[in-house]
Amino acid sequence: MVTAHVTNVLTGLEAQRQGLEELYRDLHAHPELPHQETRTAGLVAKRLRESGCEVHEGVGGTGVVGVLRNGDGPTVLMRADMDALPVKEETGLPYASTATATDETGAEVPVMHACGHDVHVTSLLGAVALHAAALDDWNGTLVAVFQPAEERADGADAMVQGGIVDLVERPDVAFAQHVLAMPTGTVGTRVGPVLSAADSMRITLFGRGGHGSMPHATVDPVVLAAMIVVRLQTVVSREVAPTAPAVLTVGSLHAGTKSNIIADRAVIELNVRSYDDSTRTRIVDAIRRIVIAECEASGSPKQPEFELYDRYPLTDNDAGVTERLAAAFADHFGAAAGELPLQSASEDFSRLPDAWGIPYSYWGLGGIDAEKYRLAEEADRVDQDIPANHSPTFAPVIQPTLDTGVTALVVAGMAWLGA
Ligand code: ZN
Ligand code: ZN
Repeated sequence: MVTAHVTNVLTGLEAQRQGLEELYRDLHAHPELPHQETRTAGLVAKRLRESGCEVHEGVGGTGVVGVLRNGDGPTVLMRADMDALPVKEETGLPYASTATATDETGAEVPVMHACGHDVHVTSLLGAVALHAAALDDWNGTLVAVFQPAEERADGADAMVQGGIVDLVERPDVAFAQHVLAMPTGTVGTRVGPVLSAADSMRITLFGRGGHGSMPHATVDPVVLAAMIVVRLQTVVSREVAPTAPAVLTVGSLHAGTKSNIIADRAVIELNVRSYDDSTRTRIVDAIRRIVIAECEASGSPKQPEFELYDRYPLTDNDAGVTERLAAAFADHFGAAAGELPLQSASEDFSRLPDAWGIPYSYWGLGGIDAEKYRLAEEADRVDQDIPANHSPTFAPVIQPTLDTGVTALVVAGMAWLGA
């Protein structure tokens, strides 16, 4: 049942709506790359102060934490990510980004909120403002975390290293949401694993270089790398249980400079996705075993080198928290609340709750025009016709996406704070 307290907190939305839409268009037109979110962080800190929060800036670089204290009661953490992507926007929207920035390699790149983190920032600021305007309807502490660099997999960890655990009291529960290519107005929850763990690995293989006409005097790393790439295809198909979803993709393979020179090394870069720690360990171990054995088989003169990078943890929703959340969503949203399918994408959000050892739940928020989505679904063309996150044409409709994003956070928060 929807409590009077939730309804009271949400009455403020009407007055907030126009300002939130303006903020969203402004954030969308001014996206910032990971760890460069200074303008966004400044706007966030200003709004948090206006809501009466205690504000901590510069947590792990550009991270911002707002704490809204309202007497004794539970502490609820909500997190929004702030960063954008090096994508050239092609949405044609009146508020489309034309921004460029210098990336970490020194290259000038276009920047776009192609993953919808502007929706998350706006929604969380809206939810904080609504809670701040209805202090008689809840008790406890709301902790709003604005995280840098989700897309680089190291923003949540930067905030942990930046001391967030010592800045605020230990929360009872943590939440995050992500706008996805599902119909606007809907929310989706899932118990247990919801987003994959991801690992990227760079493997350097060593051969012995020489003349292309004299292969007998060399160890050819191109042949060695080719054997490894083929053999790695058996890891998921032959070593992982068919009931455990997993992906192993070799996305990059570099060796050599010229047709008649045998190179002295090759570099393979691959990406692994998995949904439980034992599968993850099994795959990473299998990769090492195969690479080392193939190097031996080829007579490689030096041990291969392995480097893990861009590692995302598994996002594994707590059952008790998610069931309580799903019940609150069902009460408020009715049929617009459902189950989120297992996602192959990854997130670093869970590093925040894991730093305290607290339970969490991460849910999906629809961002696509409902009629457009229905037509694509009818034609069995959702994958082709609905631009997904990271696409240059990814364009969440502003409403009711923002209203739903704000409301979902309020309903989730009040399921703990309004009890
Ligand atoms: Zn993304
Ligand atoms: Zn994202």
